[in-house]
Amino acid sequence: MEPNTTTIASGLQKVKARIREVAGRAGRDPADITLLAASKTNPAECLREAFAAGQAIFGENYLQEALGKMPELADLPIEWHFIGPIQSNKTRRIAENFSWVHSIDRKKIADRLSKDRPSVLPPLQVCVQINVSGEDSKSGVAPEEAAELAAHIAALPRLRLRGVMAIPELTRATALQRSQFRMLKDAYDRLRQEGHDLDTVSMGMSEDLDLAIEEGATLVRVGTAIFGPRRYPIPEELAIARQG
Ligand SMILES: *Cc1c(COP(=O)(O)O)cnc(C)c1O
Repeated sequence: MEPNTTTIASGLQKVKARIREVAGRAGRDPADITLLAASKTNPAECLREAFAAGQAIFGENYLQEALGKMPELADLPIEWHFIGPIQSNKTRRIAENFSWVHSIDRKKIADRLSKDRPSVLPPLQVCVQINVSGEDSKSGVAPEEAAELAAHIAALPRLRLRGVMAIPELTRATALQRSQFRMLKDAYDRLRQEGHDLDTVSMGMSEDLDLAIEEGATLVRVGTAIFGPRRYPIPEELAIARQG
């Protein structure tokens, strides 16, 4: 038999223990940190296993992949978050099938999501994605443009602005990552000062969870540390591998 150290349930327990430990060290209440399971490339049965182990919030990057899994999991009260890049022809099905969207980076997408959000559902809970690394390949508005996009979203009837999200540079340079997490937290603080009623700083993944929590994450998006290595490389990872 496989040792149970490789199961999804034990992966989840380890991640939760890590959140508790890092939060404790940072003087933060672990209850203020939500765990989102980033489930791209993992089939529905893996999400079901995670749900059985207590995980109800899942994040998906690719609409087609998510729409394939959702019917298989329709018996479970999962809270679905969309965390990937958004093409404007996908907004209707995102607005119909998800509770949250973390990756709004332009007004046009915000307008369409608001227009497409069915009136029978509560407003779509959203974050502004901010490009904290300045890399051309990364989605997100520049930090100095976040206020304008946030104000635009706040005026839309079917969206509810909850906070900010970022994916910092993939690097072993801890100081650089920390400064990028801090940039996101600063943007969040500024938006709150401007009067937005926010509660979400979405940052931190398997490799940089600790830093993100130390710098103020309220929601961490964790994939590999829960599910194990991805079933196939995602396009961004292929691009990075090609760059060597
Ligand atoms: C895949 C992904 C994650 C999780 O990454 P891991 O390194 O597997 O923990 C988090 N956020 C986004 C936007 C992702 O695409």
